[in-house]
Amino acid sequence: MRNVFIPLLSALFLFMAGSLIINWQLWHMATMSTAEAARISTHKIDTILNEAVSATNTAQRVAEQGCTDRGQLDLGTEAALKPHLRAIMIEQKGRIICTSLPGNGVLIIHPETLPNLKLMLLPGRRLLNDVPVLIFQTPIANGRIMISISDAHLRDVMAGVSEGLNLSLQVGDHSLKRTGDVSIVASSHEVPVMVSSTMFPFSITWQPLPFFNSTRLVQQGWSLLLLIFFLSVVMGILLRRYMGKSTTFEDDLRKAITKGEITPYYQPVVNGETGGLYGVEVLARWKHPKSGFIPPDVFIPIAERSGLIIPLTKNLMAKVVSQLKPLSPKLPDGFHIGINVSASHINSSSFIGDCHAFGQGFKGKKVKLVLEITEREPLLDNPHLIENLNTLHDAGFVIALDDFGTGYSGLSCLNNLAIDYIKIDKSFVNRVTEQKDSTMLLDCVIELAKKLSLSIVAEGVETKEQLDYLNRNEITLLQGYYFGKPVSYIELIKLLLSKPREKIKLYENEKM
Ligand code: C2E
Ligand code: CA
Ligand code: CA
Repeated sequence: MRNVFIPLLSALFLFMAGSLIINWQLWHMATMSTAEAARISTHKIDTILNEAVSATNTAQRVAEQGCTDRGQLDLGTEAALKPHLRAIMIEQKGRIICTSLPGNGVLIIHPETLPNLKLMLLPGRRLLNDVPVLIFQTPIANGRIMISISDAHLRDVMAGVSEGLNLSLQVGDHSLKRTGDVSIVASSHEVPVMVSSTMFPFSITWQPLPFFNSTRLVQQGWSLLLLIFFLSVVMGILLRRYMGKSTTFEDDLRKAITKGEITPYYQPVVNGETGGLYGVEVLARWKHPKSGFIPPDVFIPIAERSGLIIPLTKNLMAKVVSQLKPLSPKLPDGFHIGINVSASHINSSSFIGDCHAFGQGFKGKKVKLVLEITEREPLLDNPHLIENLNTLHDAGFVIALDDFGTGYSGLSCLNNLAIDYIKIDKSFVNRVTEQKDSTMLLDCVIELAKKLSLSIVAEGVETKEQLDYLNRNEITLLQGYYFGKPVSYIELIKLLLSKPREKIKLYENEKM
């Protein structure tokens, strides 16, 4: 799951980040080119207005001489030669005395009422032909010269620079867009961006471009989007492969459990009095396909920390059932099958059910199921854990306290926990040698166990001296390399098949 999720997320992240960068690049380019278009438009309108300045000079001369036929012809010629100018008018004492139009025609409705501004935009309704104009005015003695500039030229300037941009010409609080009439600039929240002319009182404005624009992104950035999509997919696939290869030890263990690589080994527990096979302890073995056998001391603590101990033990229980159940006719009556259970599992809600399922597997068979709980873990103080074990004890399970003598909670839990026997840790048995004082520690542990009236299994019996010592101390249940190392299922079958049921003996007791 994690191996799919992380590459998927990373690929998605790369694609999103790439798209964001492409979008930013397109936005930046659009912003820059809009500003550039505005600068070019400003420059072109400056040029148009310079035509008006030059025409004003002519008009001033005409005004000085009065509106003669010659003067009107000069105005008409000037307007005709200046391609962007529509009409030139001379106003004196509140009256239009001369214009460039035939018959001194005037297109502006009541031009004398216009304010004395150098530059202004007039909406279509102020003109007889309903077409908006830009008016350039210059004051003269007793009046002013008014030059109108066609809106079509202004719009052409703004459109010609860049077809797709929405530039406006703003003069005072009036504005002329590329399309539509002159309008009053709304004092909206969105402040337009502008480039102002340094020569005349006008600006070219535009609304700030939206940072994200899906149409712009797809239309202008599709090839880069395709490339980044391809790269994201490739990265996702590579990451997926890499993660598939580099897994943690915990992942390896999880896989090993699912693949059934953890198998039970069986170590004999012997009855010291009779020499007969009393039972086996199930010990987990992990045969790693590459690293070979990994000892339980390495993977059990990790399984405990990660919670994998629960599926591990359940799998092990199921395997023990499937392996030992068919052998039950070969097993001595009351044969003990010990399995190690960890505190975190005992504490879990599934524990009682898991043990019952284990027990169900041997239903009708004369075997005793032993739950070995280690005394090393301080969790034995936990009342819930004790309660679960006592419930199972009442249900017929045997409870063994493992590694007795090494822990610190053992004695405190003995009052509440129904324990059938203790297993003396091999570290105590190991100390027993031919030397005189070597048994001191074990003497104490045995004495303690006897005082507490607990049955005892001695672990780690390796030598004849140790066996003799245990026999002398009437420790009847024994386990250790002296009798047999943990063996595979096949080895166990061989052992059981080699002798009839009642005669399975791992050593000849000298007392017999
Ligand atoms: P343990 O429960 O105390 O198991 C006995 C350990 O002592 C086993 O080691 C066994 O191979 C070893 N042993 C037995 N006789 C002798 C001997 O004469 N000399 C020496 N030197 N060693 C002997 P193993 O199999 O390596 O297991 C180590 C520990 O890992 C176990 O100690 C137990 O605490 C844990 N373990 C093993 N399998 C499981 C499991 O399925 N579940 C849990 N929770 N723990 C397990
Ligand atoms: Ca054990
Ligand atoms: Ca032990």
